[in-house]
Amino acid sequence: HAKKMGRGNYQFFTPEMNAAAGKRLALERDLRRALELKEFELHYQPKVDMATGDVHAMEALVRWRSPERGLVPPNEFIPIAEETGMIIPLGAWVLHEACRQNRAWQLSGLPRMRVAVNLSAYQFRQPNLPEFVAALLVETGMDASCLELEVTESVVMHNPADAALTLERLHAQGIHISVDDFGTGYSSLSYLKQFQLDTLKIDRSFVRDISSNADDAAIVKSVIALAHSLRLKVIAEGVETNEQLDFLRMLGCDQYQGYLSSRPLPAADFERTLRLSIDLRQAA
Ligand code: C2E
Ligand code: MG
Ligand code: MG
Ligand code: MG
Repeated sequence: HAKKMGRGNYQFFTPEMNAAAGKRLALERDLRRALELKEFELHYQPKVDMATGDVHAMEALVRWRSPERGLVPPNEFIPIAEETGMIIPLGAWVLHEACRQNRAWQLSGLPRMRVAVNLSAYQFRQPNLPEFVAALLVETGMDASCLELEVTESVVMHNPADAALTLERLHAQGIHISVDDFGTGYSSLSYLKQFQLDTLKIDRSFVRDISSNADDAAIVKSVIALAHSLRLKVIAEGVETNEQLDFLRMLGCDQYQGYLSSRPLPAADFERTLRLSIDLRQAA
């Protein structure tokens, strides 16, 4: 221990650092096992059309159902999965499960919907990603137009030339591409014209105070104008109140996601809610 060290020695690890490193190692070990035991599940959040209230798409969000830790949110394990490379098998599982579930819903008679899957940086940089996704679509029987991939600005800006090519190869298959958390990166806007994109997702941080903060409102208004002039759609994240919704609608936003419409739900709950809303509509 540090106290026993002679003068001039550095204390490399404090007890707190040791505890943190131990926790992190345990998490990594458990995560590896979770991958083998398939302890992951996808929750789904609808993407709602502003004008009609219709749901034509949803976002798949991964959770880890750990017997010891409970339901673990992605922010607590995705970064570690990225650092360790586990994101590749995990991301492959997410893609496969999202396509499989969406195809199963289609076959069961639900209206055709698009499912959006988040891609991490390391996953996006795999040279064979476009072929991998193409094979997955064949295997699950899902149409490419029913798949959407969400990437953040930093993911595509890491190596713009390679990213442009990857996006091109995905887009050419008919896959829909969204820029997630738009506005929070530090990238220039010039990439918007170089990349094959379909939708900008306005980050939740701009939506939170949109009806009271003139700066946020101005930013969102400009992003919507920019997107539309580039023939991109705009979806707002994190809409929790009717006030936010009304404001975004006034600004011409195309779609929204948020607790106001629904929290991300386990597949069975998502399906039940969807069927209920379809039945209600038909009864009306
Ligand atoms: P994201 O892709 O930006 O997803 C939106 C996050 O906001 C989700 O958190 C969602 O549950 C949450 N959210 C949705 N509506 C509201 C709202 O009205 N209010 C608030 N406060 N939050 C809302 P979640 O599920 O914890 O996911 C966090 C992040 O983890 C995601 O951010 C995404 O970057 C990442 N992630 C999730 N699933 C995956 C995955 O399968 N692969 C990868 N690579 N990353 C994933
Ligand atoms: Mg997302
Ligand atoms: Mg987002
Ligand atoms: Mg986010």
